[in-house]
Amino acid sequence: RAKEAGKNTYQFFAAEMNAQAIERLQLERGLRQALERGEFELHFQPIVAAATYRLEALEVLLRWRHPELGLVSPVRFIPLAEETGLIRPIGDWVIRQACRQLAEWDCLGLHVPRLAINLSARQFEQQGLIMQVAGALAEAGIAAGRLELEMTESMVMQNPSEAVSLLGELKALGVRLSIDDFGTGYSSLSYLKRFPLDTLKIDRSFIEGLPGDGDNAAIAEAILAMARKLSFSVVAEGVETEAQAAFLCAKGCQLLQGYLFSRPLPAAELPAFLQQRSPQPLTRERGAIVR
Ligand code: C2E
Ligand code: MG
Ligand code: MG
Ligand code: MG
Repeated sequence: RAKEAGKNTYQFFAAEMNAQAIERLQLERGLRQALERGEFELHFQPIVAAATYRLEALEVLLRWRHPELGLVSPVRFIPLAEETGLIRPIGDWVIRQACRQLAEWDCLGLHVPRLAINLSARQFEQQGLIMQVAGALAEAGIAAGRLELEMTESMVMQNPSEAVSLLGELKALGVRLSIDDFGTGYSSLSYLKRFPLDTLKIDRSFIEGLPGDGDNAAIAEAILAMARKLSFSVVAEGVETEAQAAFLCAKGCQLLQGYLFSRPLPAAELPAFLQQRSPQPLTRERGAIVR
């Protein structure tokens, strides 16, 4: 009987693994064709000033509209794109498309101060990143200062001395640089201060439960105090409540991002979202962004 049960378990795992392998294959095959089939789209999530709720930037978030699976989250396909090397052409498309989109909004008279784009580890290591970014900016006629590149701690800490020079070159282009999901990785504080960074984005896991969660409150305050000393600006990610926003603002966090302000929006929904709110300055009211 034990043998029988073992066999069943084995078969169960085999079937399970098979299903996973099949899904992986399906995703991978699809991923190879997704670019040429035009299945990727960019969504945009507002980053607002903590004191006024005024729009300061939009984070660019990639989506894959799969013909059978529907909208696939980047959490599911970015790792696969990294493993297969497909992240290079995909990442290139993201940077170009984001710059084109910003130029289009400029033409429409919509005021989007800045876009923040996520870089993956492979993109960061790749030769020609500088040229790629410079090319996309030039092609769209976008000033470098309106682009911010987001990297994780592990990307820059992997090889800090090389990162110092790569970040220096990116900075020389005029783009802004930020550390994403800050606090979840390992940062050498001595390097942190040597990197030409503009912004730290406090990971959502530390924003959860504020202000009641004492541990998270202590962590958020410590990051804000350090950032202030090192002259980094700080974005709090995943702000969902007024209480979180008020606490972070009181502790000196300048920038907020999260569902409280908006979910990531498809490009087509941005004009309505922005037009409603310009050109009058924004004021805080009942958690919504209002004129
Ligand atoms: P991230 O860069 O940390 O992006 C923030 C994620 O948090 C987004 O998930 C966003 O939708 C989500 N989020 C924002 N506000 C809230 C909130 O208030 N509550 C909650 N629960 N979640 C919130 P998304 O869009 O699924 O992206 C996941 C990750 O995928 C991103 O994390 C980023 O690491 C990666 N990613 C997205 N687009 C790209 C891209 O173009 N290139 C690369 N390399 N990675 C990307
Ligand atoms: Mg990000
Ligand atoms: Mg993040
Ligand atoms: Mg995150």
